[in-house]
Amino acid sequence: MEKRKQVYEGKAKKVYKTDDQDLFIQEFKDDATAFDATKRGTIVNKGVVNNRISEILFELLESKGIETHFVKKLDERQMLIKRVEIIPLEVTIRNIVAGGMAKLLAMPEGIVLEEPVLEYHYKKDELHDPLINEYHAKAMKIVTDEELDFIAKRSFEINNILKAFFDHKNLDLVDFKLEFGRHKGKVLLADEISPDTCRFWDKKTKKKLDKDRFRRDLGGVEDAYQEVLKRITG
Ligand code: 5GP
Repeated sequence: MEKRKQVYEGKAKKVYKTDDQDLFIQEFKDDATAFDATKRGTIVNKGVVNNRISEILFELLESKGIETHFVKKLDERQMLIKRVEIIPLEVTIRNIVAGGMAKLLAMPEGIVLEEPVLEYHYKKDELHDPLINEYHAKAMKIVTDEELDFIAKRSFEINNILKAFFDHKNLDLVDFKLEFGRHKGKVLLADEISPDTCRFWDKKTKKKLDKDRFRRDLGGVEDAYQEVLKRITG
């Protein structure tokens, strides 16, 4: 597979064309940003770890019938993906109160939700990814009714699969963010699933093992990412 022109550079990843117009290459960087990119830094080897973790989780989901953009891992930092048109909607699923929900509703972090909470955010940096509901999403015409139904159902299915998986690894899957894209008329799970996009707490100690260590200057950021990979593969 020949790597061609870069088509996109985001905060944590670059995307390249290939000689096949239906396939792109996604490259994971070590760059880390938080709070609308006002906080910037490097997490050494994050790209390598997130590429590997995403590979494992996309393969797990595919094995359970969830279609994703993942094709195969190419090398330490790169994966081959299906070309998608990203739907500018961030889907957050929460199992335990933390982060944005704790702030929005003045709820203490750590409350276990009886039912998972689904949130939509409009993916738009200039607007700071505002919280929206399904009516906003449809009014903006970023997604159709059918697509939105599918995305919501899929997101809860993904939560069930991931929650059970991480439970066995002694990790609480606190919350996570998903992005979907259109490929040949189908909606596929896209982007990445990693400690950048999920919150993981150690089941016993509740130690944070995700990007919150970077966001909140808790130290041991690299070790936390490595620990998640070790638990997943161990
Ligand atoms: P919160 O809304 O609490 O800040 O985030 C909820 C979950 O979604 C967390 O696991 C967080 O890492 C993820 N998340 C939400 N928005 C973004 C985003 O713009 N980028 C990344 N990498 N993760 C996000």
